[in-house]
Amino acid sequence: MMRDKATAMRLLHAHAKHFQKQIYQITDTIHLAVGYAASNVSMIEGKTGLIIIDTTESTSAAENILQDFRQISDKPIHTIIYTHSHRDHIGGASIFANDTDPEIYASANFKSDLIDAAGAGAMPMGSLLARTKAQFGMGLTSNERVHIGLGPEDRPLKGLGQGFVPPTSRFADMPQELEIDGVNLHIFPAPGETADHINIWLEDEKLLFCGDNYYQAFPNLYAIRGTAYRDFESWANTLNQLLQFPAEILVSGHGQPVFGSEDISERLTDYRDAINAVIDQAIAGMNAGLTFDEIADQSALPDRLAEKPWLIEHYGSFAYAIKACCVGLMGWYSGNVEELVMRSPKEKAADWLALLGGVDALLLAVEDATISQNHALVLELCEMARHLDLMTDPLHQMRRQALCEIAEQTYNAPVRNSLFSAVMDMDNKE
Ligand SMILES: [Zn+2]
Repeated sequence: MMRDKATAMRLLHAHAKHFQKQIYQITDTIHLAVGYAASNVSMIEGKTGLIIIDTTESTSAAENILQDFRQISDKPIHTIIYTHSHRDHIGGASIFANDTDPEIYASANFKSDLIDAAGAGAMPMGSLLARTKAQFGMGLTSNERVHIGLGPEDRPLKGLGQGFVPPTSRFADMPQELEIDGVNLHIFPAPGETADHINIWLEDEKLLFCGDNYYQAFPNLYAIRGTAYRDFESWANTLNQLLQFPAEILVSGHGQPVFGSEDISERLTDYRDAINAVIDQAIAGMNAGLTFDEIADQSALPDRLAEKPWLIEHYGSFAYAIKACCVGLMGWYSGNVEELVMRSPKEKAADWLALLGGVDALLLAVEDATISQNHALVLELCEMARHLDLMTDPLHQMRRQALCEIAEQTYNAPVRNSLFSAVMDMDNKE
């Protein structure tokens, strides 16, 4: 996810074209709004009304989309379907639901991991919200936040998450053949990016709505804002299931639609293979007795997949996915007994500082690392100083510079945004 600064910036800007604001006419009766917000909204015209698939993240974005949909059809909203419970897909529903009180469908195990803070159980909501803000670069300048990985840089945030309307009907864990307002839909459980995904197949149009089980970026098998283990095997199995449909059109929860059965099949196959590569290499590494960091360091996406445009680490990261897979399958202990000897970070830092030669030597080492552009080492040495309450202004400055340098070399939007957010937090404290 890192290249030289110029290449990283070029990749970031090139990727932004996938979220250019546009209404796509998919068929005579189906339209897709892309680039209005973090996620997409689809509109299917039925006999008497409209079926809306996903509702985006905020009431303001939903208003903009509905206004533009109204240029195409003035039929009332008949039904809403949530593909899954992530906030960016459910937060604008009230705008579509307001006048007609439509049926709202979701999966049997529909559960938001963001909006329903009260029902989240034992979750560190403060940390989750702070990390979410950082990942999406809230408060950064538009130069810093080129985009958010799966959505545009500039999007309306008024009413963020405030338009959620609870589902009125939940699908049991069985595929359902439904006729809704004259439209034939095959709706089926499709656990993947979340366990509560449902996907929708329109046989007549050969159109597959895959939610977030595919988008144009390496899959976010681990979200750095904080997620429980996303069952990787289920996601790969669901991609196999999606490949059974002879889809001519693929509509994702993010980015542009994909047309053509060969292209769709290649992308879904590659996605499945990439996820399986993570699983296989994580398991092989654990069986070889490596630590999780060693496995992440020694693993790589096979060359055949690494060059595919839809597997570039704009959103998810292969190495983070490897670590998440290891922890998800085995918990934090890798089997390397050194990890069982838990030591105070402060004691450890004090021992290493003594070996380094004391405080003056530490400052010199950070200066040397800054000059030689070993930014990661600057961060590691400053972390040592932080544990010992030895951070000084010069050290803060060099740490700040290292964070900026790494951020500018990173084209993975969540990581870049998180690094720049850390810098913003430093500046705000001063
Ligand atoms: Zn999404």
